[in-house]
Amino acid sequence: MSIYYRALGNEVTLFEKAAEHGLPVLLKGPTGCGKSRFVRFMAERLGRPLITVACQEDLSAADLTGRYLLEGGSTVWRDGPLARSMRTGAICYLDEVVEARADVLTVLHPLTDDRRCLPLERLGEELQAPPEFMVVVSYNPGYQSVARELKPSTRQRFVCIEFGWPPANIEAEIVVAESGCDPQTARLLVRLAEGTRKLRSHGLAEGASTRSLVHAGSLAASGLPLKEACEATLVGALTDDEELSAALRELLVSVLG
Ligand code: ADP
Repeated sequence: MSIYYRALGNEVTLFEKAAEHGLPVLLKGPTGCGKSRFVRFMAERLGRPLITVACQEDLSAADLTGRYLLEGGSTVWRDGPLARSMRTGAICYLDEVVEARADVLTVLHPLTDDRRCLPLERLGEELQAPPEFMVVVSYNPGYQSVARELKPSTRQRFVCIEFGWPPANIEAEIVVAESGCDPQTARLLVRLAEGTRKLRSHGLAEGASTRSLVHAGSLAASGLPLKEACEATLVGALTDDEELSAALRELLVSVLG
């Protein structure tokens, strides 16, 4: 099965060159704009396995590297996803990396410079990365708090690929391809999304993502009236605030009639 990804700029070439040189990659951009899809596409294109870790506040360095576990009365070492990626020459994708605990970023340091190694102190072993191994992290600079920004010393280790919302005609093309809705519906959805993204200056945390447009398009393609599809995916899903919900509903009326 071939993964669909609509390129927006030079990101495919940039990623390929980074992979060729074993350089780590940082994907920067809002949630739902296609970062994870891009990594899956690139892994398939390069013929490398992909191991994805969704980072959250409990994720520690040991969760990534590995630990001894008690199994059937004896202790056995179990590799974490990072060590497993190194042993198998995979792409290790740490989604929303700043959500993880600070020690996770420290573990990445020797891996993301010319040492390309991972010390497993508990095991008394140091893993050396094979040429195919690659670290990719994603990060949403607009959404996270200042406390959860990447430090310059970490950021500078990465080749950065910036993602934004696709131009309207391309975003509509993606929505048609992903949801099966008709092009006219997709164009309306993109206009709505553009309106929600402008509401960020009025306090909306995030505008509608390409992902939410695909969801709206899928509901519409399966016969739900467009307005109901949008109410479910583009109003309630974006905010709990009453004033902002009212503003979003007004937007629905002005774009859909
Ligand atoms: P992120 O990782 O940035 O949060 P995803 O990669 O999960 O976002 O994208 C969300 C959805 O948006 C995808 O499942 C896909 O349907 C769609 N999408 C966004 N951008 C693209 C693109 N350039 N090509 C194909 N699909 C895309």
